[in-house]
Amino acid sequence: MLLDSDTQLNQQSYYEASVMRPEPEPPLQEDLTTDVLVVGAGYAGLSSAIELARRGYQVVVLEAERVCSGASGRNGGQAIAGFASGQGPFEQQLGKAAAREAWSMSMASIDLIDERIREFDIACDRVKGYMYVADSARKARALEKDCVSMQRDYSFAHKFVTGADVQRYIQSPRYCAAAFDSTSGHLHPLKFGLGLAGAAQTLGVKIFEKSAVTALERGAILKARTLQGSVSARFVVLAGNCTLPEHGPRVAPELTPRIMPVGTYMISTSALSTDLCRQLIPSNAAVCDNNFILDYFRFSADNRMLFGGRVSYSTRTPSNLKAVMAQRLGAIFPQLENVPVEHVWGGFVDISMNRAPDFGRLGNNVYYLQGFSGHGVALTGLAGQLAAQAVAGQAERFDVFARLQHRSFPGGSLLRTPSLVLGMLYHRMRDVF
Ligand SMILES: Cc1cc2nc3c(=O)[nH]c(=O)nc-3n(C[C@H](O)[C@H](O)[C@H](O)COP(=O)(O)OP(=O)(O)OC[C@H]3O[C@@H](n4cnc5c(N)ncnc54)[C@H](O)[C@@H]3O)c2cc1C
Repeated sequence: MLLDSDTQLNQQSYYEASVMRPEPEPPLQEDLTTDVLVVGAGYAGLSSAIELARRGYQVVVLEAERVCSGASGRNGGQAIAGFASGQGPFEQQLGKAAAREAWSMSMASIDLIDERIREFDIACDRVKGYMYVADSARKARALEKDCVSMQRDYSFAHKFVTGADVQRYIQSPRYCAAAFDSTSGHLHPLKFGLGLAGAAQTLGVKIFEKSAVTALERGAILKARTLQGSVSARFVVLAGNCTLPEHGPRVAPELTPRIMPVGTYMISTSALSTDLCRQLIPSNAAVCDNNFILDYFRFSADNRMLFGGRVSYSTRTPSNLKAVMAQRLGAIFPQLENVPVEHVWGGFVDISMNRAPDFGRLGNNVYYLQGFSGHGVALTGLAGQLAAQAVAGQAERFDVFARLQHRSFPGGSLLRTPSLVLGMLYHRMRDVF
């Protein structure tokens, strides 16, 4: 079961071990009426709540587990400009002008992170700097091509280097090209998420934890039920990510086949010396390769290597995870081969078929935000802002995304996993050959 694996995968997270959570919020035990109900207290839900409260709406957030106990509290912390899909789906489906608008909104999503950190004084180890790396000549050519088109079509510059110059950016024998971007960067995801929750509460948002929405009655007034209470609202924002159908199979079943939960895993090492960290990645940037199945990594503020990679297309956690991840890390940085691994965790990414975000409406008063496809750290903030604007009657920016067509994964909920596994096998082979 997805929920069992998901809960298990959160137990050993470095992030949970490195923050002091506030006291739990009590579960909902009454019947409330509000303007807007937000389902899910990850970044997307919290961002929606902040933006709605700013606009004068009364907001209730219902969270099945704990604030940011899902992907928002466990991710690689890489706050990346752009979309997992690249600009392709926007250009092909909506044309160049809308694609440029989507791109500029993604750039604004990075600014939004920094504005919120400043405004709400969120201490979350924010660092600027990001690097794509390529591990073969073919991948280097693809990376260069992307850099050229992003500069030409979107005026977005990378510093692209190849050969011996790569060592000035990352001291690894594995990479033959790198593209440095000074706009994207990284942060401590759980500190950031808890900061957003605190910010929402200072704006008057009520958050209930351990309050899964199990059913949603639709109509002019929407009614959501939990085990011990209910919330009636004029609008609902669904921001439940991969576990929404698990907690509430009847809440929005039409959304389920549009995303696929893909497991991704992380380890953190013991703390290294500052000298070693600066030797390996002098800029302290976050790093990601450009393979279909990614390795992504960076240093934490306390000098641990946080390394992510490996994926699972079933809901089962791969066996021998710690050893396999440590081996992958050692292949990238032989200097870290024998460094102890202290934490191993993971979570599920909500992949859409074309990897573009999937935002839209069910009827005229239920909004949904999903399909971040592993690029949600920055984009969720924007998504919440767009949903709040749409609730307030200014839907132009939201509709740039809502106009994107998304296909369901073939095979329905039973067969979509095997078909995806076959598809991914093909891409994995292309990474190698
Ligand atoms: C291991 C890992 C590494 C990642 N690395 C990166 C990265 O480096 N950069 C990047 O940009 N993205 C990354 N991502 C993706 C990113 O974390 C997500 O896109 C983002 O956090 C999604 O936020 P969200 O609010 O949509 O979902 P979540 O944070 O998952 O929040 C959804 C919440 O809804 C709750 N919920 C579900 N159903 C219900 C219900 N019925 N009732 C009430 N509550 C409900 C869940 O409990 C959960 O807390 C990573 C993801 C993982 C798992």
